[in-house]
Amino acid sequence: MISKEYINDILKGYDLNKLKICTLGSHTALQITKGARDEGFENLLLCTKKAAGFYRELPAVDDVLEIDSYGDILLDEIQDELIDRNVILIPHGSFVEYVGSKNIIESLRVPMLGNRLVLEWESDRKMERRWFEEANLKVPREFKSPDEIDCLVIVKFPGALGGKGYFLVKNSAEFHRKLKVIDLPENIKKDYTIQEYVIGTRFYPHFFYSPLDDKLELLGMDIRYESNVDGLVRIPNVIQREIEIDPSYVITGNVPVVLRESLLPDLMNVGRNLVKTSKGLFKPGIIGPFCVEMICTPELEFICFEISGRIVAGTNLFIRGSTYSDVLYDEPMSCGRRICREIGVAIERYKLDEIIY
Ligand code: AMP
Repeated sequence: MISKEYINDILKGYDLNKLKICTLGSHTALQITKGARDEGFENLLLCTKKAAGFYRELPAVDDVLEIDSYGDILLDEIQDELIDRNVILIPHGSFVEYVGSKNIIESLRVPMLGNRLVLEWESDRKMERRWFEEANLKVPREFKSPDEIDCLVIVKFPGALGGKGYFLVKNSAEFHRKLKVIDLPENIKKDYTIQEYVIGTRFYPHFFYSPLDDKLELLGMDIRYESNVDGLVRIPNVIQREIEIDPSYVITGNVPVVLRESLLPDLMNVGRNLVKTSKGLFKPGIIGPFCVEMICTPELEFICFEISGRIVAGTNLFIRGSTYSDVLYDEPMSCGRRICREIGVAIERYKLDEIIY
């Protein structure tokens, strides 16, 4: 494991006037580079050949370093070059997916925003659930064995496959029938999670926790736009029955949403409880952006089923800010920009080592 002392030593050798904000050219790289530019930092993107041409043409991108594959960020010569260039890495969803949370924790020597340990917690369903439960949040029921299924359930598979292969069933016979025909590798098929399907409305709030000011902010909110389930709802029920198409949950986009205003205090409590518990579960706890996937029931309770401990793709909706960030800031404040602002404030207060790991 890369120790905090090691990262602190590297930071001490950095020329803070030449700091570069860096991430992989994918996911939320547009708002991270624009955010860096807006906050007065230079930026650098690590891109595959295919992505390099696209990002190079964008005015907010300062520099592009081409690599053969995203995993190459772990190569010693690439890491040395990034350290030479005073780079601070910003992890995003594709970053964690392509490089792997274990590799990031064990072998990435380049300073990175946030507590790396959170990447392990957000990538493992059992750990996520423990975090929710310790924070006293409501979670969907889970069934250890298909024989226990006694309501409508969603069957999920591991990894950031974007909802690929998920299916709904009402009993164990249906479960076995559908699992057999699902198009996934055998090792992934075996690693299913059976979760009560919660019927309600979805909200995916984008939180930002600043440890420098011990302050939680709500920067935006989205809903995942999923294929084909979000298309199926446009077909009347009678026709749905005739064509017999099962819903699938593959993410294809994001749509903006606002929450009924009277529920905002409860929502902030969800975020606060997660921050507080994280400090006990993985010291010093969550730092910067995180997002909770939740469903609001007709009883106005939030049921939490997933957490991301880094910037999420839904924030791309709000490069010029959202309803919520507008209330907090008199300027366009994307999540990418908010991250860069936190880095700037940390530098001013000589506290960079409190947010970089
Ligand atoms: P996940 O991979 O957990 O983010 O789930 C992908 C999608 O499946 C979500 O965005 C929801 O639309 C749906 N989903 C996941 N879990 C549940 C649940 N317990 N109840 C209802 N819908 C769910």
